[in-house]
Amino acid sequence: MGWNLVIGQKRVKKILRRSFIADKISHAYLFHGPEGTGKDAAAIEFAKVLNCEQPDHGEACNTCTHCHRIVSLQHPNLKIIIRMPVGKNEKEGDDPFQKLEPKMIAEYRQAMAEKASNPYYRINLSDANKIKINSIRDIRRTINLARAERGKKVIIISEADTMNDSSANSLLKTLEEPAPNTVIIVTTSHHDALLPTIISRCQMVRFELLREEEIKNGILEMNESIDEQQAILIAKMANGSFHRAQELVGTDLVAQREQMIDVLRNILVRSPSMWMREIEEFLGPKDRYAVVRSLMLLNLWVRDALVLQHNNREGIINLDQQESIAKFIDHFNKADLTAVVRSIERAIALVGKNIYLSLVLINLAFELRQAILRQ
Ligand SMILES: [Zn+2]
Repeated sequence: MGWNLVIGQKRVKKILRRSFIADKISHAYLFHGPEGTGKDAAAIEFAKVLNCEQPDHGEACNTCTHCHRIVSLQHPNLKIIIRMPVGKNEKEGDDPFQKLEPKMIAEYRQAMAEKASNPYYRINLSDANKIKINSIRDIRRTINLARAERGKKVIIISEADTMNDSSANSLLKTLEEPAPNTVIIVTTSHHDALLPTIISRCQMVRFELLREEEIKNGILEMNESIDEQQAILIAKMANGSFHRAQELVGTDLVAQREQMIDVLRNILVRSPSMWMREIEEFLGPKDRYAVVRSLMLLNLWVRDALVLQHNNREGIINLDQQESIAKFIDHFNKADLTAVVRSIERAIALVGKNIYLSLVLINLAFELRQAILRQ
């Protein structure tokens, strides 16, 4: 186990493991790469390795108290700095929690507990847009605390691009005077937004988008209630982000796909006045995200039809749908499926803009009729 909790990112794991084994740990790292690829998770894992009582070839033992306390985010050697609200009358130099209202602190604790149970969880506290200067100043306090008997102090600055100017300058000062036995891990999905002087003081570690297979397996491991077909759909729609995949876990993609296919059937066989009403019903209370999701599901289904049309069964995503897709191709044998895919993709792009959803879908319906019925 251990590093296996970090999904994918073989190259990253190798770099960090090697630096640990060779005892060549940098004072500061910059973990950068797309959102949801496991930068925080890897930072927490690395903190565990660095503080474990019996690490073995760069793997934490996962049984000692240090391992447990790091994972539960309760270890005195671990500090995670995130976007936080600014308290009423909070002045520079205050403890970052001192002026916060109790409900803000409760929300913070709740979020940290969530993060401890799922390192891919994205913390989003109310009224917390920036990493505030007092949080960065607090790093000093952590560094100056009497050194724990073993291990290294690890300070994770999550979403570092959200630091304001004074926070960034304060961090720069901290990086300029490396403290012994302290590792600072700066994480960001937008490293271009960081001061070049901060970047130049860190060892860069790049995180890649996760592969669909990695996401699928990760989702299956973490969620007993998800079956393989659902996990495949989730992985397809997550765009390489495990955070995105986890958001999709709560939504019943298979049911949404069924509903979308029903809508497609009705568009093809019913009169316009009827299917227009159905589109309105389908839209109901859906927000734009839900509509995009449904259109993406439809797109994957039609892509499967395209794949099957070319007698290639290997690329099929909706494995449970092969029979009905085959019937569909058989029935609409003149359909121009490439045009269908193009139309759906165009509609997805339009839904993201501020255009009436029903207008986008009705227009799409006419295009689909034309491309599939060829009339
Ligand atoms: Zn351990």
